[in-house]
Amino acid sequence: MPVLFDYRYALPAAPAVGMLVQVPFGRREVVGLICEIAHSSDVPAAKLRDITSICEGCAPLSEKWIALVSFAADYYQRGLGEVALPALPQALRDASRWDRLFAVEPRFRILPEGRAQLPDALPARASALRRLADALAEQPSLTLSDARALHPKAGATFDDWIARGWIEAVTAQIAEPDASAPMLPTGAVPLPLLTDEQREAVDAISGAQGFAPFLLHGVTGSGKTEVYLHALAALLADRPDAQALVLVPEINLTPQFEAAFRARFAALADGSIVTMHSGLAEGERARNWLAAHTGSARIVLGTRLAILASMPKLAIIVVDEEHDPAYKQQEGLRYSARDLAIYRAKQLDIPVVLGSATPSLETWWQAEQGRYTRLTLTRRAVAEAVLPSVRLIDLEEERRRGRASVEGLAGPLIAALKTRVERGEQSLVFLNRRGYAPILSCEACGWVAGCPRCSAYAVLHKPERALRCHHCGWESRIPKSCPECGNIDIAPMGRGTQRVEETLASVVPGARVLRIDADSTRRKGSAQALFSDVHAGEVDILVGTQMIAKGHDFRRVTLVGVLNADTALFSHDFRASERLFAQLTQVSGRAGRAGLPGEVMIQTRYPRHALYQALSRQDYVGFANSTLAERRDARLPPFVYQAMLRAEGRTLDAALKFLEEAAAAFGPLPGAERVTVYDAVPLTIVKVFNVHRAQLLLESASRAALQASLRAWQPVLRSLKGVLRWNVEVDPLDV
Ligand code: ADP
Ligand code: ZN
Ligand code: ZN
Repeated sequence: MPVLFDYRYALPAAPAVGMLVQVPFGRREVVGLICEIAHSSDVPAAKLRDITSICEGCAPLSEKWIALVSFAADYYQRGLGEVALPALPQALRDASRWDRLFAVEPRFRILPEGRAQLPDALPARASALRRLADALAEQPSLTLSDARALHPKAGATFDDWIARGWIEAVTAQIAEPDASAPMLPTGAVPLPLLTDEQREAVDAISGAQGFAPFLLHGVTGSGKTEVYLHALAALLADRPDAQALVLVPEINLTPQFEAAFRARFAALADGSIVTMHSGLAEGERARNWLAAHTGSARIVLGTRLAILASMPKLAIIVVDEEHDPAYKQQEGLRYSARDLAIYRAKQLDIPVVLGSATPSLETWWQAEQGRYTRLTLTRRAVAEAVLPSVRLIDLEEERRRGRASVEGLAGPLIAALKTRVERGEQSLVFLNRRGYAPILSCEACGWVAGCPRCSAYAVLHKPERALRCHHCGWESRIPKSCPECGNIDIAPMGRGTQRVEETLASVVPGARVLRIDADSTRRKGSAQALFSDVHAGEVDILVGTQMIAKGHDFRRVTLVGVLNADTALFSHDFRASERLFAQLTQVSGRAGRAGLPGEVMIQTRYPRHALYQALSRQDYVGFANSTLAERRDARLPPFVYQAMLRAEGRTLDAALKFLEEAAAAFGPLPGAERVTVYDAVPLTIVKVFNVHRAQLLLESASRAALQASLRAWQPVLRSLKGVLRWNVEVDPLDV
């Protein structure tokens, strides 16, 4: 839905599509983007307003980039401006900062006329002038200060040469491929010899022509990163101006990844590798964005937002851990960076590599149909490292046999933890719930501590002595007695990371226990510090949420314990089991990476469940294919396409009424006959921060029909009243 606004252009510099401009908008001045240049307008001349200024320092965004954001706007049902402008760094969206941002020294470069006439036209003995001419002929461009170093009167000389048509001044920042920079890794980092499987994968990617989507399916520790590094090295060496985009789910959690790239490409010029993620300070974000835009950054490492970076010479895209839900933006423009990566690669006719040990079923299905080329790494890369063995601890049986479990930790797990501590090896205990206990209740009257603003329990946080709502952030002191009946015996129920940390310290005496979760890493940079303690061997047992599952290459971990995984088996969300399988594979993958055999112990009441059985066989393929078959039978994605309309109201009735009116208006729309509209339902956690939430699911076997009807629905939705907010999400992940 490109909503474009017309302006008159009356500035000396020529306008071009893709330029940033400052324009009056209502009573404000805002930054805009030239999307089209027209010679007439439907807006009466008297009403047409003038563009205030243009951002001359910034080279225009390419038409390809505009086409990309237009596609995203259209597909995800937003306005073009709502997509294009937020994709730019904040500093660029503020015209008052342009001057400082682009305070670049003018550069001068030689023109063909100058090449023909310089230096012969110079007086024979003017050696300083000759040096200047030589430098211009040899280098892509010269700054005035460089030039003055060669000849003090360079300024006046350049004015003269410009007048003669020998050289020109360049103000826009233009990509200057530095052909002299060595591209291939230097001896600083010894390169591992690729395994045969890695070599095949690298060759396939490097040999690809045009649009070539790859699924790199490699077990944890199979060396997918090494495949990316080699594929990129080959490409960047081949083409001195090519750029690569590498997406990771959460850059703060994978500093090792960044370090590997920096070490491997240390030979590239400074500033050739930049990162792009929301944790960067504004100035750095702007600088890195510009480096990508001008082409001086050869490799951009970023989180999902980097998929919309302007990269004029983009030649390959890598999406690591492509299954990770973090690639889906959950507010504003609700896009999938992984899906946009595929679109962008197709648009630019370049290869795209999706890597994962547990590909999303959407991606797996594409590979099954032969639309993506599958590259498989079946073995761990480090010669001695084998995949860990998985053992299911049947909690029912433990109980029947009267074997003691302490505070939710089964006997065999405690024994295994003790052995590891004795052997000086590390263990990792994973559970997906932070806090001390998820419920605080009174046995006498049944009172349960809840959040007053949400329809959710408040979580007990013992070290902070607080009850906290994980949905809205509400916090209060722990009551000393039951607020309902005065009973002082109120007790925590269930277990979170804090409680497990406390238990471990008492059942494994002498063990150094460290907890890593959103609470223990609240301070910026603290996660890094905690992880380096683990790497340095200063920790025996690491307890944590999925933060500890992702991507870390822990060399000394030989045991992984998993608690409380069962709840996800019976979720109302059809993707819950896919997510659980991925998560448990990831966390299991932390064990036994460096030669010592690894073991995974999963505590469960359902050891015969198909998911755990597949997991203990390390059988992703079996799991994926049987889950896909279920999805096909149940007519669920990827066999149908979905969209979700969500509404938030002061009351649940208001939210539901809005959705019902929206559903009633949907029927007659074009394409609607091929779309199923389900009943409006409250969200599982219906109230958050005193706002009531409900949703309406739409589904179709035809993506085109769904898209057409959603587009026609927008004006209808905008005309409906009665709710605080609403949004449409295309391809929702949480259904
Ligand atoms: P993945 O991302 O597939 O889980 P990584 O890329 O983290 O795996 O690699 C796992 C470990 O194997 C890393 O320590 C890496 O340095 C090492 N590695 C990768 N490829 C090789 C190889 N060909 N030879 C030796 N070690 C390798
Ligand atoms: Zn009570
Ligand atoms: Zn709350």
